[in-house]
Amino acid sequence: MRGNAGMQKRILIINTGGTLSSVKGCNGLVPGMSSGDMLEELRMVSRNLELEAEDFCSLDSSNIGPEDWTGLAKLIAKRSYDYDGIVVIHGTDTLAYTSAMLSFMLQNISIPVVVTGSQLSIANPVADALENCRCGIHMAASGYPGVFVAFNRKVMLGCRASKVRTMSFDAFESINYPYVGEISSLGLRVFEKNLVEKKGIFKPQTAYSDQVALLKLYPGISPEILDMYYEKGYRAVYIEGFGLGGMPFVKNDFTGKVGEVIDRGMLVLAGSQCLYEGSNLSVYETGRLALEKGVIQAYDMTTEAAMTKLMWVLGQTDNLREMKEYFSMNIAGEVNIG
Ligand code: ASP
Repeated sequence: MRGNAGMQKRILIINTGGTLSSVKGCNGLVPGMSSGDMLEELRMVSRNLELEAEDFCSLDSSNIGPEDWTGLAKLIAKRSYDYDGIVVIHGTDTLAYTSAMLSFMLQNISIPVVVTGSQLSIANPVADALENCRCGIHMAASGYPGVFVAFNRKVMLGCRASKVRTMSFDAFESINYPYVGEISSLGLRVFEKNLVEKKGIFKPQTAYSDQVALLKLYPGISPEILDMYYEKGYRAVYIEGFGLGGMPFVKNDFTGKVGEVIDRGMLVLAGSQCLYEGSNLSVYETGRLALEKGVIQAYDMTTEAAMTKLMWVLGQTDNLREMKEYFSMNIAGEVNIG
């Protein structure tokens, strides 16, 4: 543990909703408890930490969108000067999008920000809720700055997390990147070598663009889909290609259409629809032709990180060269380039 030795640490819990806070409604489970309702239980797992709570919203995370990320990032930035760490309670379904976007918007933050949730409501006696909050709260008190996800006794970078299981307690994995911490019989251990160095002074950067689309290729896909996005005003598309990132060009010249929209000013980011090990478009002809047309490689980014980075980058600049420069950089640990 680092920093503030001897003093009682102040941790803020920010609630956004999700299963952790859910109650039975007439249409199924809905977020219902406020952070105040949960505070007493959370204090049971936080021991000698000073815990405070605040509600940002109370939504199933399917209803959380980019405007919420901006609001949440601004709130966290403001509170970061008053607390030693912040835990964000969030629905698990889109949690990894939020944690990835917070990693970009809050890069260089000087306290730990830990996003967590659960597969069962905190009101359920057999839930994973308190265990996940315990991990989140103690990581938030660790003194290691950055945006993290805590789930099932593991801590991962916020921009490497992905929800990979719908029901089990080990719902999240750190994709293409080692875990940064875990709770075991040795207590909470943080693996310092896997943390991302602060690269400068903290200044929240909360602008984004939502003129961004995600396209997962499938055999037989019509290239005209790209025209549709272009005509509707989309400025960028993230294409998840086959295997190492391949795209078809023989029967339907999808790659040719990619070149056309790039020439018309769209940014095209290309990655793999495989979860593990990332893309490399320079191996096969199906990738190289796309590279020749000017696609940018997503390498080993998760879908969540690729999409939120695209939204974030387009919010920072209108200049295509600058956008490409952002994609040649590893900002928050989201990508291993090359
Ligand atoms: N539907 C819930 C949500 O994402 C699922 C959960 O929290 O586990 O808000």
